[in-house]
Amino acid sequence: MELFKPIPAAAGTNQEFSMPSILTCDDCGKQSLAALVHLNGSTCPFCGGLFRMPARARIAMLADADTFIETDETLTSTDPLKFPKYSEKLKKAKADSGLTDAIVTGTCAIEGYPAALAVMDSYFMMGSMGAVVGEKICDLAEIALAKRLPLIIVSASGGARMQEGMISLLQMTRTTMAVNKLGDAGLLYVSVLTHPTTGGVTASFAMQGDVILAEPKALIGFAGPRVITQTVNEELPDAFQKAEYLYQQGMIDGIVKRGELKAALAQILALHADNREASHDQ
Ligand SMILES: [Zn+2]
Repeated sequence: MELFKPIPAAAGTNQEFSMPSILTCDDCGKQSLAALVHLNGSTCPFCGGLFRMPARARIAMLADADTFIETDETLTSTDPLKFPKYSEKLKKAKADSGLTDAIVTGTCAIEGYPAALAVMDSYFMMGSMGAVVGEKICDLAEIALAKRLPLIIVSASGGARMQEGMISLLQMTRTTMAVNKLGDAGLLYVSVLTHPTTGGVTASFAMQGDVILAEPKALIGFAGPRVITQTVNEELPDAFQKAEYLYQQGMIDGIVKRGELKAALAQILALHADNREASHDQ
């Protein structure tokens, strides 16, 4: 069964996207023009609150200018289960996000350090993981392995893509195994969790980083708070499943402001590069 295919070259990836033109800040409730918000690092111009960041804007923020070389840029889902209304949803998500699926992958330099970089986009079907997202992560991990590059994945996901059923769940195993191989080869994997990172993505590669960072106030969890409350029949702490709570509990290694993420990643890449040189010298 064919799960994905390259789209015809003429269709290409569409850099322009038709997102909502007005966005409302979760933190201060004020409205801003989306174009202004995304020019400003997808942050609220009034209070600095974080909006979801489009993948290409995130890549522009993290990768050194003109260094990003995209991989698998034309892969798109074939709607393998012919799930009702999925093909219409895919069409709309492509128009809304300017992407062919919910992740952009490639290689780049970050403050001069070479890296493999994957960025999920929650404007594409809430960043859900189907066969294309799984395949692109596995391919990128293979590239990182072959070129001995550190891997960075910036996650933003509602979880598995239900329209791809079991095929979508399979991607949890595939991506888990793919990033594990990097660890076996002594290569660094840094996972960056952004709002929201939930479901099958949290239950696979997103929590497997050697270093796991998160953006402030990001919701990170498997099932949502309502499902958990009903299951365990207990009141949950206030900030339950927020990045700050997970940090306190030792589940993640650090919380990094969006504007400081590139410098933080560069520092981790530098430390790892130094260590590798030191261990080669011995
Ligand atoms: Zn605000």
